[in-house]
Amino acid sequence: MREIIVGIDLGTTNSEVAVVRDGRVEVIAISEGERILPSMVGLADDGALLVGEAARNQYVLRPERTVRSIKRRMGEATHVALGDKNYSPQEISALILRRLKQIAEGHLGQPVNKAVITVPAYFSDAQRQATREAGEIAGLEVVRIINEPTAAALAYESGHQGARKALVYDLGGGTFDVSVVNLEGDVVEVLASHGNNHLGGDDFDQRIVDFALDHIEAQNGIEVVQAVRHSAIAMARLQRAAEAAKIALSDRPYAMLAEEYLLQHQGEPVHLAVELARADYEAMIAPYIAETLDATHIALAGAHLTVSDIDEILLVGGATRTPLVARRLEETLGMAPRGELNPDLCVAMGAAIQAGVISGEQIASVLVDVTPYTFGTAAISFLDGEEYPYCFVPLIRKNTPIPVTKSEVFYTAYDGQARIDVGVFQGEDRDALNNIEIGMFTIDGLRADAPSGSRIVTSFSLDLDGILHVTTREKETGLERSITITIANALARLETDQLDAARERVRALFGEDSEGEGDSTDLRRHRVEALALVEKAERLLQTASAEDGEDLVNGIEAVRDALDQNDEMLKMTMGSLADLLYYLEA
Ligand code: ADP
Ligand code: MG
Repeated sequence: MREIIVGIDLGTTNSEVAVVRDGRVEVIAISEGERILPSMVGLADDGALLVGEAARNQYVLRPERTVRSIKRRMGEATHVALGDKNYSPQEISALILRRLKQIAEGHLGQPVNKAVITVPAYFSDAQRQATREAGEIAGLEVVRIINEPTAAALAYESGHQGARKALVYDLGGGTFDVSVVNLEGDVVEVLASHGNNHLGGDDFDQRIVDFALDHIEAQNGIEVVQAVRHSAIAMARLQRAAEAAKIALSDRPYAMLAEEYLLQHQGEPVHLAVELARADYEAMIAPYIAETLDATHIALAGAHLTVSDIDEILLVGGATRTPLVARRLEETLGMAPRGELNPDLCVAMGAAIQAGVISGEQIASVLVDVTPYTFGTAAISFLDGEEYPYCFVPLIRKNTPIPVTKSEVFYTAYDGQARIDVGVFQGEDRDALNNIEIGMFTIDGLRADAPSGSRIVTSFSLDLDGILHVTTREKETGLERSITITIANALARLETDQLDAARERVRALFGEDSEGEGDSTDLRRHRVEALALVEKAERLLQTASAEDGEDLVNGIEAVRDALDQNDEMLKMTMGSLADLLYYLEA
C-alpha cells in the first residue's frame, strides 16, 4: 500500500483535511455531509474532550471551557486555560490536527502519518515552526508547510499550463489576506501579500448582532438590552443567529433573526423576531469590503504590478460567498473573480495536491459540477442610461457549482399593479431579449390596493439533473406561482478553466461580433418605442369597435412577435401598427 500524505488547512475558524486518490482530489467528510471542522476545542463538565462542532455548541453555554481562534496565538510563548490546566497554542492546535488525522484514517482505512499543512503567507518563521510542532505533537510528520494562497492557486490551476498571475483574495472568519501570486505549472510564487488579521466574517456577524440589539432596545427599552448584553448565553445565541442570517443573505434578499425566550427580564420573557434585508446588511458591511479593496491595491503595489497585469482573481475563504464581495471586486478591478471551487475547501484541496506531487501521484484537474449558463429574469431598470423594461437580472451565474438556489427581490412598477409577467432567460447579454427565453409565467390577482414598490421575491433553483425551478412570490400576501424547466446540457464538468478556453475558441470561430445584426443599441431603442406603441394600442383597444379591435390585436401581436427578432422586422411591424393608430385616432 502506498503511503498516504494528507493535505490540511488548519484555519483560524475552520479546518479541513483532503487527499488525492487515483488522481482525484477529495475533501474528507468530518461527519454526515459535513466537510468542515470548526477549529474549536473544549472540555465538557465531565472532563470529556470536545473538538469541532461539539466544542462550538458548548461555547454557547460554557465559553470559559472552550478555546477558539488558537491560530492567532501560534508562535507566542503563551498558554491558554482549558478546564483547570494550561496548554500551549501548539498543544491546542495538535488536538484539532489529531482529530483530522483520525477522521482521515477512518475514511481511508489505513494509518495516516504524514501531512502537508498550510499557513498564511505572512506567518513568521516562529509561527511556521509552531505549526510544524503542532503536527508532530499530533503524530504527524509535516513533510511541508505551504502558504495558503499557494494552495488555493494550486487547486484552481492544477492541470493548467503556461505562466499567469493571480490575485488570491482570502476572506475567512477572522482574518483577511490578499496575495499576488505567479503560477507556472505546479510552481506557485507569492509575489506580495497584504491584509488585516482582525477582519473577516466575524465582523459581519457582529454588525448583525448590533442591529438585533438596537431592535431589542427599540422594542423593550434600554434596561432589557443591558440585561441581554450581560448574559453570555443570550449574546452567544445572538451571535449564532446572526451568523445564520448572514449565510442566508448570501443566497436570499431577506433573512429572519428569531430567538424565542432569549432572556427572562423581571419575570417577563424577551423574544427576538426581526427581519433583515440584504440591502441594509450590505450597507453595514460595505466599509469592511472597502478596506479589503484598499489592501488589494497595496498588495498589487507591493508586487510592482497593476490590475492589468493580473490574469485572474481567485476567491478563497467562506466569507467570499457574500455576493457584495464579488460585486465590489468586479466594479473596482474590472474583472469578475473566479469562485467555482468551494471557497472554504480549496486551501485543503491545494494542500492535498501538493502532497500528491510530493508522493508522486498523477493528478487530474480538480473537477466540479457547475452550470455552463447564466440564468435570470427581466426587470425594468436602466440600460446605458435609458429606462428599459427588459434588463437582464442574472440570478444563477455561469460556473456556479450546482445544486444551487438563489433569490432576489423585485418591486411592482405602479400602484394597484395586478399582474406580473416573469420571463426566464438563459444567456449573458444585459438586454434580456438578446438572451434565450426558456420560460414565462404570470402572477395574476395581486392586491388591488397594493402600492407601487410592493416586494416580489423570485427564486431560481438548479439541480444536478438540470431541472430549473423558478418561483415568484409576493412577499406581503404569499401569493405564489412557479414553473419547472428542464435544461438541456445543464451540467458541465469544469476542468479548472478549460471552459473559458473553449468559449474563446467558439468565439474565434464565429468572429468577434456574434450578435452581428446591426447596431444593438438601435434595436434596444426601437424596443422601448415598440412597447410604448403597444401600450397606446392597448388603451385604444378598450374603446374600439369589434372590427377595429381585431386589427389592433393583430397589429399588437405582430409587434410583440417581432420584439425578439431583428430590427428590420420590428421597424416594419411598428410602422403598420403606427399607421393603424393614426387612422383610428383620426
Ligand atoms: P478561516 O479560513 O478563517 O478558518 P473560513 O474560510 O472557513 O475561515 O471562513 C469562515 C467564515 O466564512 C465564517 O465567518 C463564516 O460565517 C463565513 N461563511 C461561511 N459560509 C458563508 C456564506 N454562505 N456566506 C457568507 N459567509 C459565510
Ligand atoms: Mg482560511
